[in-house]
Amino acid sequence: MARLADERTDRLLRALQNGMPPDRLSRGHALYRAGRVPVMEVVMNTVYGAVHDGTVHAVTLDADDMAYSTCTCPEEEWCAHMAALVFRYCESAGGDADAVLKILTEGGSLDGDGMPGPADGPEAWAEWFAGRFGDVWLECRRSLHPLQLVLQEAKGKARDWPPGMRRLHWLQTVLLVLEQAELAYAGSDPANRYYYQLAFTRSAEPWVQHWLELLRETGPVPAGEAEERWLRAIAARLREAALNERYGLLRWDELYVAWWDHFAGWRDAVLGEREVIGRLAEAIGYADAGARKGSASGADASAGASAAGTSAASASAASVSAADPSAAGISGTSATAASAAGASFAGTSAADPSAAGISGTSATAASAAGTPDPGALSLSSRETAILTALAFFRFRDGDHDGAIDAMRRTPFRHTWTIVRRFAERCLEDGDFDMLERWMRFLHERLRQIRDAAALKSLLALCRAADERWPERPLGIRLMREWLPLSYGELSTLYLSRGRLRDWADLQLAMGIRPEDLDAGHLRRVAKEAPELLLPLFHRAVDEAVRSRGRAGYRAAVRHLKRLEKLYRAAGRQERWREFIRQFRTRHARLRALQEELRYANLTGD
Ligand SMILES: [Zn+2]
Repeated sequence: MARLADERTDRLLRALQNGMPPDRLSRGHALYRAGRVPVMEVVMNTVYGAVHDGTVHAVTLDADDMAYSTCTCPEEEWCAHMAALVFRYCESAGGDADAVLKILTEGGSLDGDGMPGPADGPEAWAEWFAGRFGDVWLECRRSLHPLQLVLQEAKGKARDWPPGMRRLHWLQTVLLVLEQAELAYAGSDPANRYYYQLAFTRSAEPWVQHWLELLRETGPVPAGEAEERWLRAIAARLREAALNERYGLLRWDELYVAWWDHFAGWRDAVLGEREVIGRLAEAIGYADAGARKGSASGADASAGASAAGTSAASASAASVSAADPSAAGISGTSATAASAAGASFAGTSAADPSAAGISGTSATAASAAGTPDPGALSLSSRETAILTALAFFRFRDGDHDGAIDAMRRTPFRHTWTIVRRFAERCLEDGDFDMLERWMRFLHERLRQIRDAAALKSLLALCRAADERWPERPLGIRLMREWLPLSYGELSTLYLSRGRLRDWADLQLAMGIRPEDLDAGHLRRVAKEAPELLLPLFHRAVDEAVRSRGRAGYRAAVRHLKRLEKLYRAAGRQERWREFIRQFRTRHARLRALQEELRYANLTGD
């Protein structure tokens, strides 16, 4: 459809704003809304149309000079028919007749339909959004569907923006929509919270993914002043959301970490944010020694961080990690000692840090101070967000002790996903020592707070670590500690590593019966190392015989046939003959078993 150039639309609207009484504008708007403008066409600078109010009037609007506009009605001044045509034109061009009427009658910006443009900055947009969509969450009683429409419409407003600016607009817009989702969730019926959490999370998930995509497409540092202004505004907005106690639907902490991970190279912004978070942490009673020192590099700063808040005298446990920070988290005992060192966190409830149970140096005293989620229990979601953010910046600074110390305060059930993220980052960076620290931390926390999903992640990390560093025993060692829960993972891992003896030992140790094994796995081991399966089948035979009864004997014979093949494959037929002879003798009085043995026609007689 033909459109007037934007400056002509502007001129037209300005002429109307200055030259037409509000009541006439309103009448024109009413005519248009009543469907009384059936025809409209744009040719060059002129809008042609027909307006029908009992009589049909032909109207022309001259966009260059409203004074040349005409209508066939008897009205001498600019008439309501002209206004009606203007409204129809505005909507056909993507505007909003209601908004235009409001601006024309009540005053306001005439840029487009009152929307801010790319140059107006993020604040103007957020304000426009709030005015227009700020209450949509009230309509989300049952579903977030109304927000889907809002997202489409709001994003559409930046359709014609330059791509870079459009992406910034969208980054902000998605956040604004997610905030609406939070408000809707907070306002949902508490009796059905669980339902709403599931339903709303599912609806919002694609928006979250969309936001992360937009983030990935954004450059690592702002390309110019305008972009920087947008990014800073969005960052501040994101922090506010992450710290908002009312928001309980989405993982704003993960979005926050993803954001600053992406902009890690934007030095002054990172430093600024790091400082803000450090101050917030101090305000909730968590001494941020790393920030005070100005730099938080490695062991030095972390030792300081652990000791901070503890009175110097009570730092005996802390001195363990201070003296040998590299050992913290590697062996079990020093990990617990480190946890005690960290227990100096005053939190919001525990005002006296010296009371935090750091008196003993023994591992037991230390672990007592560090058992189930010590600081976490009293942490609000805001405090959790602050410590998670702090942990992230410490992690980025290479201060892993400090990061672990901060994460230890947070409720593990909630924040283990962040810990996993840190571990995965170490894996990507190829930093085995740091990976080990984080995996041990996950492991240690899991011992205190069982969580199936977190354990699954730990096992996945174990596998990945073993794949990348097959010579290091860490992955398999941790997996072994999680038996029997890790049985399936470990069993598969052994096979894929070709560690068949370990595989067979595992089956024996776990009391796995041959019939419960994966048939493919069994075939492979039977082919490559048949002798490893012998104990497994011997035990199966014994168990089957012990169960007595015909069914048991049949099972026993089935296993014996398999044993026979395995002995042959292993080249130990002698040993088999000896065994089966003894077997018959030993069970000579079990007549039913003897019968089954005869049917089976085993060799060795
Ligand atoms: Zn007229």
